[in-house]
Amino acid sequence: MSISEFALIERYFRHCGVKRGDVRLGIGDDAALLETPPDVELVAAIDTLVAGVHFPAGSPAASIGHRALAVNLSDLAAMGARPAWALLALTMPTADEPWLGEFASGFTALARAHQVALVGGDTTSGPLCVSVQLLGHVSRSTAMLRSGGKPGDVLFVSGTPGDAAAGLALEQQQLTATSEAAARLRDRFLFPTPRVALGERLRQFATACIDVSDGLLADAGKLAHASGCGVEVQYSDVPVSEALVSAVGNAKARELALTGGEDYELCFCVHPDNVGKLRQALPPEQWGYRSIGALREAPGAVVLAADASVMDFSHSGFDHFGS
Ligand code: ADP
Ligand code: MG
Repeated sequence: MSISEFALIERYFRHCGVKRGDVRLGIGDDAALLETPPDVELVAAIDTLVAGVHFPAGSPAASIGHRALAVNLSDLAAMGARPAWALLALTMPTADEPWLGEFASGFTALARAHQVALVGGDTTSGPLCVSVQLLGHVSRSTAMLRSGGKPGDVLFVSGTPGDAAAGLALEQQQLTATSEAAARLRDRFLFPTPRVALGERLRQFATACIDVSDGLLADAGKLAHASGCGVEVQYSDVPVSEALVSAVGNAKARELALTGGEDYELCFCVHPDNVGKLRQALPPEQWGYRSIGALREAPGAVVLAADASVMDFSHSGFDHFGS
């Protein structure tokens, strides 16, 4: 690498994210020293993005920086936690300074929005790979788990899942759309919005929560399985964006909403007695979520048509557009 590792860290990572009073020692020593408040549990998550696997090789650097943090913020959101500190392990083939500048600005913009300090990391040379570890807090024993759901709980999802999968297909030139729809869908893939504020507020109401990264149906199924039950989703209640419908039509839009990945929305369930309080405290039009089904005794994740027949989405997996 032309620029020294030391200079690179100083220039691009020393001032990434926000300054926080609870960072006693950040970047620069062998390890960071962090102060944890009393009465909270530390919440930790890590996710790795590999070029060509988790994002197309040649993705905009700002998007890679954004997504590397966003996927972890989404995991903390699903627990109802408040993010605080991140560590960044970056492996890249060469120290391309314009790339690093954009990467750092993508990471920093999102870190600032969520009051996250970058407190350390590791920089190595090799095929492009970005790993972010995120630490945060949640009041003792109040975190949402996947396992707290019960049959009869009402199931909800935030946002409009499926957009990111279409955005990825657009990025990969497997799909075309009007420029307006394409811009919107691409943005949902390149710059997903982790639902941190919603997650924190849901702790009061949700019995269980998971973030949607592998596809709504698969992740709702994981939540149900962890809760020792099954889940049914009403096909007609699955939210789809106008942009998605305009790009792929109604049926494909619902299929993508159920089985596409990379949405980073929240899927959660609420005891029926608390649904009214949820809607009052967090108006759905304002917070952007809707009910899509319910947990049930019978195991598995099924989608029900208007006539209550079971629809088959088992064929639709990762590869929605062929290649
Ligand atoms: P060591 O060899 O002791 O692990 P390094 O020379 O790798 O230390 O790192 C020096 C300092 O810079 C450490 O505080 C480390 O956490 C930080 N650091 C290294 N790479 C990054 C990075 N990509 N982002 C943020 N901090 C980093
Ligand atoms: Mg050391």
